[in-house]
Amino acid sequence: MTTVAPAPISAPLSPQPDVVGADVLIPLVNGERVSYANFDYAASAPCLEAVRATLADALPYYASVHRGAGFHSQVSTDAYEKARLGVARFVGARADDAVVFVRGTTDALNLLARCVPDACTVVVFAGEHHAALLPWQHRGSTAGRVVRLPLPASPEAAVESARRALLAAPEGPRLLVVTAASNVTGELWPVEELTAVAHAAGARIAVDAAQLVPHASFDLAATGVDYVAFSGHKLYAPFGAGVLAGRVDWLRAAEPYLAGGGATANVSEHDVRWNDLPARHEAGSPNVLGAVALAAACTALTEAGQDTLHEYEQSLLDRLRTGLAQIPAVHDLSLWGPEHPRVGIVSFVVDGVPADLLAAALSAEYGIGVRDGLFCAHLLTRELLPPGHTQAARASLGLGTTVEHVDRLVRAVAELAEHGP
Ligand code: PLP
Repeated sequence: MTTVAPAPISAPLSPQPDVVGADVLIPLVNGERVSYANFDYAASAPCLEAVRATLADALPYYASVHRGAGFHSQVSTDAYEKARLGVARFVGARADDAVVFVRGTTDALNLLARCVPDACTVVVFAGEHHAALLPWQHRGSTAGRVVRLPLPASPEAAVESARRALLAAPEGPRLLVVTAASNVTGELWPVEELTAVAHAAGARIAVDAAQLVPHASFDLAATGVDYVAFSGHKLYAPFGAGVLAGRVDWLRAAEPYLAGGGATANVSEHDVRWNDLPARHEAGSPNVLGAVALAAACTALTEAGQDTLHEYEQSLLDRLRTGLAQIPAVHDLSLWGPEHPRVGIVSFVVDGVPADLLAAALSAEYGIGVRDGLFCAHLLTRELLPPGHTQAARASLGLGTTVEHVDRLVRAVAELAEHGP
């Protein structure tokens, strides 16, 4: 059997806030029960205990916000608007930025796509998650162009290619859309440099921070980024709430994303006057508890210290990558090489073991949850796959991940590489 020497671990072992369900035991095929080694944080992260406590406090009071005169409506409205302020702080929003609650990153970027001016040229890299890649081409017949850039060979090449495309775009509004951290490789994109070239070209930049904010801090004002989108369910809160934050003018000028109650200031027989932001793009009864939970997660992460949490995760990531690197059949997918900084995401293939069988065996025999497939970034993942592989496995970690989980995963992959699933 291949032996895997554990890498040293230097960061403090448990500075992290507790996640819900960390003590749950799950059954293996051999009847044994083990703690669930969740390596699917990039899909959805478990809820934080602090989020659960906030939700438990909010539940007795929740009611429809803004339009109710009753006590519960007032309490809920207050909680909803405080959540908006908390999120604004978490992303370092400028005083005049809008914070719109949506369902998630996909929803946020589709909302933005509805709000960019008709003549806008949108520049996007081919390797994006589909949520960032696709909304722009569905903007209707009057819409401006979408320029899809090939995968760049280096971060510097990304910046140069974006610069050229933005300068070559026709006069008029231009928007560069880019991920902050890849959901396939975890690699960090040069957001500050891309912001600088976008602004120098008179363009704006929208950042998909779905995979960044669970692992590291992000600041709209400090980076100068114009729009940021992310999802609550990847940030240790339940499903159904996400955020689009950024410059108000395009959002204010656009017709509401959804038409309906809440988005309207006045409706007459022949006319409708839409509300101002953020209500303009929050038609229907909003997801009050989702917003409150999301803001509670932001607060918990900030209080725990995002830098400390990042350091903890990086130590686990190093241990995982060092372990996997010692298994000859394993290939770690990366666009810019093993040294490029990344968040806690590792996509890999194992020669001789299809990723779906690997993932199934990791679950059934070892109690380990990874993801297999092309991760909603088909163009990037296919490009990175070594010959003979049609999909990859992805291990993504977070605040409930332990050293034992990492060592179990490395041992399991080594055993499955050696003996097959
Ligand atoms: N962008 C990235 C980088 C993602 O990883 C994901 C989800 O996997 C999304 C966008 C879409 O997020 P959601 O499904 O919450 O809308």
